[in-house]
Amino acid sequence: MHILSKSTYIKGEQCEKALYLFKNRPFLRDKLSMEQRAKFKRGTDVGLLAQQYFPGGLNMTPNSPSQFDKRFHETMQNLGNPAVNVMYEAVFQYDDTLIMLDIIVRDGDKWRAIEVKSSLSLSPTYYKDAALQYYVLKGCNVPLSDMQLMYINADYVRNGDLDLSQLFVFQSVMEYAEKYQDVISRNITHFKEVIKQPHSPKIPVGNQCDSPYRCEFHGHCWKDMPNESDKPYTIDYKSLYSLIGDKNQSTAFLNLLFYRPAVPLFDGDKPYTEFIIGFSILSNNGNFDRIYNWDCLDELSRWKESLPLLNEQLQGFERVVCFAPQNITASLQRFNLMESKDLNYKILNLKDILEQSEFHHEKVKSDFSLKNVYESVFTGKNLFEHSRIILNALSGNEVEEQLVGSDMELENKALRDIYFHLVR
Ligand code: SF4
Repeated sequence: MHILSKSTYIKGEQCEKALYLFKNRPFLRDKLSMEQRAKFKRGTDVGLLAQQYFPGGLNMTPNSPSQFDKRFHETMQNLGNPAVNVMYEAVFQYDDTLIMLDIIVRDGDKWRAIEVKSSLSLSPTYYKDAALQYYVLKGCNVPLSDMQLMYINADYVRNGDLDLSQLFVFQSVMEYAEKYQDVISRNITHFKEVIKQPHSPKIPVGNQCDSPYRCEFHGHCWKDMPNESDKPYTIDYKSLYSLIGDKNQSTAFLNLLFYRPAVPLFDGDKPYTEFIIGFSILSNNGNFDRIYNWDCLDELSRWKESLPLLNEQLQGFERVVCFAPQNITASLQRFNLMESKDLNYKILNLKDILEQSEFHHEKVKSDFSLKNVYESVFTGKNLFEHSRIILNALSGNEVEEQLVGSDMELENKALRDIYFHLVR
């Protein structure tokens, strides 16, 4: 039975209290955010494609935690079996630490160990993860030809069928991992001691709570801190009004649903190319709301239909208000949407405007999202995370896809309420 795993080891490196709580008081964890779920899903999709790069492997994924020991012994047997050349999620244990390696491939009389990342570049955290895996593999006496990170090639352009040999790139981390082995050995010994203590380590909250990952014990550790989120928001109204301009102009609220797939879906696209898969427009016509919704969830290749429809629906408005993390005007210009002579509206990204007007509240410190701005402005009210819409949109499940339109409307109404509340 193992005591540590890759994820608990990483927790320990971030904060020993997080490691202790995870092992001894797991029920104190926060609920998984939608954003985290979306990230896990992206990682899984890329992981499955990476397996196709090395086809015909044995999948060693245990069906339940009780199978870890069994899978470990099978993995070790397979290493000695000449009929086995590739394994996915092979299980290794050493020094009471368990890892599941994404891919291991026979390479002559040795093995090539591969950890898959769905990102376009490699962070120091990825190197540390790989160093831990190398430590366990070495402890299991696996003869390694290399230890590599496999990640997405930012320059790949799709042309016809996916070319996995171009989509992925490899970086050897064996030299780095070798240098880091003593540190890992010491950390593991120390972390095992931490877990056995009768009480959680006395560690005050600090920067480590959000770096490199948001800690899942936030709610527990921060609950006794003075509750800054009870204080009202502050804003420089003078800047706000000068940025907003004439508030009597005819206004539409636009909620755009962008999708940035790690793996390009269409010819000419690179990894993480952004495109519009849905939108919702809200305007007020006298006494009632006018709502126009569109999406292409049934067939993503129809996404370009969004552009003429947006043009048509936004004509006649003097300003269009949206809330987006990206430079929305640049995004729309990329689709030549702003080039149309018929359009004379001005796009206002309320996120940029609020940031430039020094909008402050405890809630927006970690994430300046529509949800957090809404909950700062309207104390006691709640809004869901935008990732909920993305997850439902890409679920492949008809019932969940049907929630997308109404959720986009709700977000748009929240945007409208914030806007009119601030510029009243
Ligand atoms: S919230 Fe902060 S102090 Fe508490 S366990 Fe997590 S990282 Fe440690």
